[in-house]
Amino acid sequence: MAAGSAIQIPSRLPLLLTHEGVLLPGSTMRTSVDSPRNMQLVRSRLLKGTSLRSTIIGVIPNTSDPTSDCDDLPSLHRIGTAALAVQVVGSNWPKPHYTLLVTGLCRFQILQLLKEKPYPVAEVEQLDRLEQFTNQHKSEEELGELSEQFYKYAVQLVEMLDMSVPAVAKLRRLLDNLPREALPDILTSIIRTSNQEKLQILDAVRLEERFKMTIPLLVRQIEGLKLLQKTRKPKQDDDKRVVAIRPNRRINHIPSATEDEEEEEDHDDVVMLEKKIRTSSMSEQALKVCLKEMKRLKKMPQSMPEYALTRNYLELMVELPWNKSTKDRLEIRAARILLDNDHYAMEKLKKRVLEYLAVRQLKNNLKGPILCFVGPPGVGKTSVGRSIAKTLGREFHRIALGGVCDQSDIRGHRRTYVGSMPGRIINGLKTVGVNNPVFLLDEVDKLGKSLQGDPAAALLEVLDPEQNHSFTDHYLNVAFDLSQVLFIATANTTATIPPALLDRMEIIQVPGYTQEEKIEIAHRHLIPKQLEQHGLTPQQIQIPQVTTLDIITRYTREAGVRSLDRKLGAICRAVAVKVAEGQHKETKPDRADVGEGDDCKEHVTEDAKTESISDTADLALPPEMPILIDFHALKDILGPPMYEMEVSERLSQPGVAIGLAWTPLGGEIMFVEASRMDGEGQLTLTGQLGDVMKESAHLAISWLRSNAKRYQLTNASGSFDLLDNTDIHLHFPAGAVTKDGPSAGVTIVTCLASLFSGRLVCSDVAMTGEITLRGLVLPVGGIKDKVLAAHRAGLKRIIIPQRNEKDLEEIAVNVREDLTFVMASCLDEVLNAAFDGGFAVKPGVERFNSKL
Ligand code: ADP
Repeated sequence: MAAGSAIQIPSRLPLLLTHEGVLLPGSTMRTSVDSPRNMQLVRSRLLKGTSLRSTIIGVIPNTSDPTSDCDDLPSLHRIGTAALAVQVVGSNWPKPHYTLLVTGLCRFQILQLLKEKPYPVAEVEQLDRLEQFTNQHKSEEELGELSEQFYKYAVQLVEMLDMSVPAVAKLRRLLDNLPREALPDILTSIIRTSNQEKLQILDAVRLEERFKMTIPLLVRQIEGLKLLQKTRKPKQDDDKRVVAIRPNRRINHIPSATEDEEEEEDHDDVVMLEKKIRTSSMSEQALKVCLKEMKRLKKMPQSMPEYALTRNYLELMVELPWNKSTKDRLEIRAARILLDNDHYAMEKLKKRVLEYLAVRQLKNNLKGPILCFVGPPGVGKTSVGRSIAKTLGREFHRIALGGVCDQSDIRGHRRTYVGSMPGRIINGLKTVGVNNPVFLLDEVDKLGKSLQGDPAAALLEVLDPEQNHSFTDHYLNVAFDLSQVLFIATANTTATIPPALLDRMEIIQVPGYTQEEKIEIAHRHLIPKQLEQHGLTPQQIQIPQVTTLDIITRYTREAGVRSLDRKLGAICRAVAVKVAEGQHKETKPDRADVGEGDDCKEHVTEDAKTESISDTADLALPPEMPILIDFHALKDILGPPMYEMEVSERLSQPGVAIGLAWTPLGGEIMFVEASRMDGEGQLTLTGQLGDVMKESAHLAISWLRSNAKRYQLTNASGSFDLLDNTDIHLHFPAGAVTKDGPSAGVTIVTCLASLFSGRLVCSDVAMTGEITLRGLVLPVGGIKDKVLAAHRAGLKRIIIPQRNEKDLEEIAVNVREDLTFVMASCLDEVLNAAFDGGFAVKPGVERFNSKL
């Protein structure tokens, strides 16, 4: 609504009684409504009304509404402001109330109060912005001079402010465009004035009087601003900063000391920041952007949300290591020693890492494939990454990618978002403070995908040596050179790594450990580390190798050493309590059975359950006797063993065979069970099988049915048609885990052959291999992990496809010596090896040979 045009308000107005703040025509005010009468007005007039008229109310200042509606109405201020209710917001907290946004239209005076309840309504007379007032100007000269003077002051005041702030520029334009008679009201509501002063202006119905009263207020504000600028001059070389105009400030009010100090401090910070930007070694492009942002920052009022955003941005830009790097100190011989010292076994991995480092040393640049360590958890992938950083003398930073499904996690959010921030790469650089760290991208196989874009695509850019010298994070919006960063990735499996990403990386498989390797790792690395972490010394605790073996076989079942490390930690904690209490006791000779070869006389163990803590005999013992962890102590601390050898028990019935499976967590043994019952030839499969595995089951049955006569396999009623009146159920335990892959083919055949022949499969044999309809055995993957799993489970004979024989070379000699391998190229050979005494073919029944 143009402030200058004439308006006409209704002659009857509902009255809103306000106490805080004075609404002047042409200005807007937010007021809280919680008294009964005012609430009634909002509810029944504003919220129910449908016409524009119903949103016009009379705002009476300086009159508080009684807190209860039975109280009498207080005497009302005579003059009020007719206002348009622009917005009503309701809330129930902390008590029911509304917040009204009202815009003043014109003055009115109350002629007569018409009713008081539920809310007051009065007959009113409009006092300004009437037709006759806007057209006929009384004594043109006199008012002309006054208004001219007023206008000049108003312009002077506005020009003291920062014109680059849009609101100030708009105000400047309004001064020229608004009719002069509207200016006193508007400016009074903008500058620092008390409620009392505003009330006086409201009561000044005559325009001349209003001009006269507002001029001193303007002058006072101008003087106040001058004073403020003078106090700042020495520190501030220009007047670009916005001087906020706050209401309720007196002319001679000099901002309080603390407030001023705060502002100065902020200002100093900004100057410091600018200095830092200029002296930092950022790229030219970045410097340009920063200076532009700095310019914007200086013009922004601090209360603006964007101020903090811009400042954070500039601070990050200054902190980033644009040109700061550590010096590489690579010496291959030292690197070899360091890698060997930090890690036992994993020869293949260490060899490849050394080659990689040697090439880097000779070529002196980082272009080349990104190394990606793939293997089960706890085999030392992360810790090799850390060692590489150590050998190079570089900073190390781990970026966990598991579950990341948003592109902006890698590439940052654009700064238009509230709460936007840089991506993990830039954040990591800020954390390490140098531009050539080793970044370990952990779990690249667990990257997600979502509507927010594909993080793998963002990683592609990061990892591509051709592109990453100008990586642009959305938050920074300028290129940052990542070419000095050494990236290493880790994953549990390559199956879920996006192919484009896989293409950029060189995969190095890190298989699980054998029991012997685990024992060595425990004694060389894990135990010393745990002792140190728990403040123990070898004089206080002794863990013999047999105990470690016990922990490995009976308390953990894993390819890596993470659970083993945790169990050792639990032992150290328990011993720490004993040591701290000074309570340990000599082992009785009959309890030292596991410590063969150790000096039995020195054996001590803790036995919290059977011995009383207050046993005085304890105190006589020398405190430096180490606590020996034997099997009994182990049971005490870790509870009963979690894994017992169950193999032979489970194989006591026909229809069970042991397969070998590969999972991202390492190899595992898998019992396949089959049973048959009367039915209509149906095959039921349970255990969450994938399509490939279901097909293997069908293949196995078809092959057995076609060879039933040859092997004398019959169903319950003696027929060679195995499915005649018979249903078969095949189950793969660990039913909750989804399984897929072709390698269970031979196991299913063996299991069904056992079921239909009624013979038991040897209890110490495990097998793996894909089958064809013609009974050939095809090679499968993950042989090393599978063999290690069989070895862990105490199995002795392993049937593998003939064409996998070459994979056995990777397996440690001691493991190979413990096992017997049967190489099978067809199912006959598998069955012969799986059953004691072989699985004889009935003479005379020839194998079906294809003539193709
Ligand atoms: P991953 O990253 O493969 O899941 P970690 O690197 O976190 O495994 O290794 C887990 C723990 O096992 C670490 O404390 C590490 O030092 C230890 N560890 C694993 N393998 C070895 C090894 N070959 N030699 C020494 N310590 C090892």
